[in-house]
Amino acid sequence: MPCFSANLVDRHWLAPGILEIRLTRPEGVTFIPGQFLRFVMDGYERDYTMVSTPDAETIDFCIAVVNGGRFSCDIQKAGIDDTLQLTGPHGHFVFQGSANPSVFVATGTGVAPFVAFCRSGVDAGLLLHGVGTSDRLIYRDILQSGLGGYVPCISRPFEKMDLQDNAFAGRVTNYLEQHLKPDTYDFYLCGRGAMIRDVTAVIDQQFSASRLFIETYD
Ligand SMILES: Cc1cc2nc3c(=O)[nH]c(=O)nc-3n(C[C@H](O)[C@H](O)[C@H](O)COP(=O)(O)OP(=O)(O)OC[C@H]3O[C@@H](n4cnc5c(N)ncnc54)[C@H](O)[C@@H]3O)c2cc1C
Repeated sequence: MPCFSANLVDRHWLAPGILEIRLTRPEGVTFIPGQFLRFVMDGYERDYTMVSTPDAETIDFCIAVVNGGRFSCDIQKAGIDDTLQLTGPHGHFVFQGSANPSVFVATGTGVAPFVAFCRSGVDAGLLLHGVGTSDRLIYRDILQSGLGGYVPCISRPFEKMDLQDNAFAGRVTNYLEQHLKPDTYDFYLCGRGAMIRDVTAVIDQQFSASRLFIETYD
């Protein structure tokens, strides 16, 4: 896979512990919403899913900053205008579209591909976004206004305010078990492996005729 260079043009906090970075988009570099790029760093590589659309001026990512994480650390130290090496686009986690209703399930920055879907015109589908506290509901406005349904699933609400609007107090698995009506769906799951495992078990149990598309972040 050929390597290309892009410059870091912006970096800011989206939420506590979550950075958004923007890179220049070199001419000819394109992708399908939902795909990811691989950052080729000094001695290691990391994958990140684009939240921007393929025709945008910059290529944007949201990055959960992990304590002691190599990329988490290096990207905070990188200077604006620094050149980064990447390969890609990679991956097949793209919107399929079918007669089945779509259910998008994300935890944390696993929402990235659904932001790209939404920004590129996918307007059907229900998104469940699992977070610990409501201050981690990144891209809330875009997702709430762009998709057919948007339910923040807040596992550790710290006050009543957290549960305003259509928020659900609990994990995405609890919402699926208790509130999603029986049907045959296209499920798209993105996030850490533990969530993917737990949600897959619920789907097998309650929505077994459904189709399942998965992007695991670890
Ligand atoms: C296809 C793909 C797409 C991805 N897209 C994104 C994306 O858009 N945004 C994003 O934030 N991440 C994404 N990831 C995860 C990303 O590639 C890194 O694994 C993650 O950012 C940690 O990298 P690091 O170098 O900072 O930490 P590392 O040095 O790799 O890890 C340090 C420690 O932290 C743990 N850890 C790693 N991630 C987390 C986490 N989220 N929460 C808690 N502990 C963690 C590791 O298990 C390890 O013990 C994606 C992964 C894949 C495979």
